Amino acid sequence: MNSDRAVGAQPTVSAHRRFALASPARRALLRFGLTGTAALGATAALGAAPASATPTAPARRRPSTPEEALCELAAGNQRWRTFRERHPDESPTVRQELTTGQHPFAVVLGCIDSRVPPELVFDQGLGDLMTVRSAGEVLDEAVLGSVAYGVLELDIPLVVVLGHQSCGAVKAAVESDESGKRLPAHIQYIADQIAPNIDRTQEGDARIASTIDANVRAVHARLAAEPDLAAKVTAGKLAIVGARYDLTSQRVRRIA
Ligand SMILES: [Zn+2]
Repeated sequence: MNSDRAVGAQPTVSAHRRFALASPARRALLRFGLTGTAALGATAALGAAPASATPTAPARRRPSTPEEALCELAAGNQRWRTFRERHPDESPTVRQELTTGQHPFAVVLGCIDSRVPPELVFDQGLGDLMTVRSAGEVLDEAVLGSVAYGVLELDIPLVVVLGHQSCGAVKAAVESDESGKRLPAHIQYIADQIAPNIDRTQEGDARIASTIDANVRAVHARLAAEPDLAAKVTAGKLAIVGARYDLTSQRVRRIA
């Protein structure tokens, strides 16, 4: 996580498309230390922001820095897990506005698991997130190219690698490793990519849980080592963070 920096990024706010950063969320993130340089290098709950008191979404300003993007995701996850979703950016007006372009503020690289759709668990709408999903967040050239597209071509200031509780891909990889039994078709490729991240200091369910986090760390490290992405991190225009979604609490937590 040493490569993560939090410095202002060049804003690319669309005149017709604005996100307002809820000030309560901002205060909550400050309290939980999720803003600023230290925040992006620390382990913390991503879902630390309280839900807004207003039931309807105000005009929104697109987060243009890593801290602002993290803040918005934290606020959205807070709304999600407290059943106070706003379902932003679904209106006819937004749909029409988006026909002329997109300005998503975060790339979420997540698992294919049907229980962890990024737009829902972060309470975001159309045009807000660029989502890339593969079983176990496994990287290949297409996934790397997709993440790079969001960061380099769309100037997105935040990449979140999102693992999750009870990941079937990680479980299958661990079980295949333990039994020596190969998985059918291309599923073995997924298992092979996860296998180096298996936590052999643990056993049983603890091994699977620990490997979920280790796998996120490995994917994060691989992305952070990409020269083009690393240059953006160094310039303070990008943060890459690892996180885990807890199915039980619906909370997203940072993984150091
Ligand atoms: Zn999964």
